[in-house]
Amino acid sequence: MAKKQFKAESKQLLDLMINSIYTHREIFLREIISNASDAIDKLHYKSITESDIPVAREDFRIDVKVDKEAGTVTVSDNGIGMNKEEMDANLGVIAHSGSLDFKKGIEEGKDVDIIGQFGVGFYSSFLVSDKVTVISKKYGEDQAWQWTSEGVDGYTIKECEKDSYGTDVIMHIREDDENETFSKYLDDYTLEDLIKKYSDYVRWPIHMNLEKGAMEETGEKNEDGTPKKEWKEHIEDTVVNSMVPIWQRDKSSVTDDDCKAFYKEKFHDYEDPISVIRVNAEGSVSYKAMLFIPKVAPYNFYSREFEPGLQLYSSGVMIMDKCKDLLPDCFRFVKGVVDSPDLSLNISREMLQHDRQLSMIRSNLEKKIKNDLERILREDRETYEAFHKNFGPQLKYGIVEDWGARADLLKDLIMFHSMEKDKPITLAEYVADMKEGQDKIYFASAESVARAKQLPQAEQVRDKGYDIICLTEELDEFTLRTLRNYNEKEFCDINSNDLDLNTEEEKKEAEAKEEESKELIDFVKESLNGKVDNVILSRKLKTHAVCLSSEGDVSFEMEKYFANIPGSPEQGVKAKRVLEINPNHPAFDALKKAFGEDKEKAASMASIMLDQALLMAGMPVEDMLGYSENVFKLF
Ligand code: ADP
Ligand code: MG
Repeated sequence: MAKKQFKAESKQLLDLMINSIYTHREIFLREIISNASDAIDKLHYKSITESDIPVAREDFRIDVKVDKEAGTVTVSDNGIGMNKEEMDANLGVIAHSGSLDFKKGIEEGKDVDIIGQFGVGFYSSFLVSDKVTVISKKYGEDQAWQWTSEGVDGYTIKECEKDSYGTDVIMHIREDDENETFSKYLDDYTLEDLIKKYSDYVRWPIHMNLEKGAMEETGEKNEDGTPKKEWKEHIEDTVVNSMVPIWQRDKSSVTDDDCKAFYKEKFHDYEDPISVIRVNAEGSVSYKAMLFIPKVAPYNFYSREFEPGLQLYSSGVMIMDKCKDLLPDCFRFVKGVVDSPDLSLNISREMLQHDRQLSMIRSNLEKKIKNDLERILREDRETYEAFHKNFGPQLKYGIVEDWGARADLLKDLIMFHSMEKDKPITLAEYVADMKEGQDKIYFASAESVARAKQLPQAEQVRDKGYDIICLTEELDEFTLRTLRNYNEKEFCDINSNDLDLNTEEEKKEAEAKEEESKELIDFVKESLNGKVDNVILSRKLKTHAVCLSSEGDVSFEMEKYFANIPGSPEQGVKAKRVLEINPNHPAFDALKKAFGEDKEKAASMASIMLDQALLMAGMPVEDMLGYSENVFKLF
């Protein structure tokens, strides 16, 4: 029979996997067992949602058998089975989008530990086998099929005999070589341990034939008349896994470590979650939930590929793998399971969206997650900061996205970098440390914290002893603008032209100076010829000669942001630019002098002042050559 080739991608994957992964080979068993369990789930689901499917729940089982002589491990199930087309479609291509990502990961030279991150699925059988045979009969069909492959060079499918529906996966274990031992996988106790480690919560019984020993009566009598006993070993059909899903178990019987191990195995993470949230709700809607807050964001978290959602069960039957409607988008990093006997099995995705019970669960979980994050913030600052580094942008996005509808949920969870303390702080912490007389929360948008610190505008605010939060991430400023205020404290952009920090006296003095210099200011404005919207004498600059600030509703940061959204109606929106000149700086005196003596010189000074202000604000100088020429004119 002609050998069929694996689809190109699968072939490469297989090759990479077999040859470049040396750790974690043992996960093959979990993958094969979880496929068996999925197949039983499918048939079980069918049996309860369709009539005329006479299979009993208690008959479902998975068997793991070792044949030492043949050198094989076989995993059998009496699940839904596969016909020829399904074998071809499911075992001949990359089944998992995860598998593909996994391959990319290796090619990009990432840590091969990455295998822990994805289910590599059926292919993982080749991690330990040099030949895999799948014998399967689909429920309700008569013909059984045999799929065989020795790895990369392809596979064959042919007719075969099998008594009843279900699937056997027969793995011929590789020979030991100088680097690795494979023969350990032919040992019952190794397999038993692996099942306990990875598949304990599988809902269907996993049977093994294990040798059990006991003292048994021989039928003869001892001298004192008591029955003679002897140590005897026999093979016993044993259920190895405990089956009750971990989230259904009593809280007291499940340790934190159990939950973490479950999380890592189920959600393919190699790090412990930072928190486990367990919910056992009874009342108008009853459900059990076990949620996890991951430590690190999956590599595709901020891309479209990432699929958020919680696994949804109804009385132990999985009805949806990634139910999005159980989580608000701002908490899309949360993983976990929700199990509620109140949900109907036949529920469709569309119905779920409008399901009242589901929305009650969601709003309940939302609060639980918020409370838990606040707890971590209180109790374990370091962990929270690390969490925020990974997922803070998602929380901020959550505020911006719904125009503040979730502000109450999120405003106490977000952090910004404090200029004073040089570390992330929450808005509550900022407000708690506000100085007497301070009524605003000051912020500075800049590329980096270092840049923000250098802004001439920061000086006056800091001189007053007021802290400034540095907004360096794309959504930071939008987040604040969406919130508008925090517990009635308004946000104030230090880049805006009027910070209103001057005393009455200072104001009077400034007004007098403005009056006096009106002609000069008008001249500067004119000579800059539309490059700025306004020129003013600054009331905030101390040691610096000039700065650039914005006037009105649109800030520089928003201008930049809009410019990056192609097609947005706001794309061309510009901030109103204001050149502020420090009237107490020698540069101003020089300008004034030139204005009286040499208008041309004064014009090039004005031009330099603007360019300097642009440079300090981290904005491009339009005419570099002109700038340079202007500077040298002054020599
Ligand atoms: P996944 O389980 O994520 O779909 P796998 O690579 O593990 O990916 O499996 C590929 C597909 O092969 C499964 O989706 C399923 O359709 C089929 N399959 C694998 N094992 C079995 C089995 N024991 N019974 C029925 N179908 C199976
Ligand atoms: Mg699988």
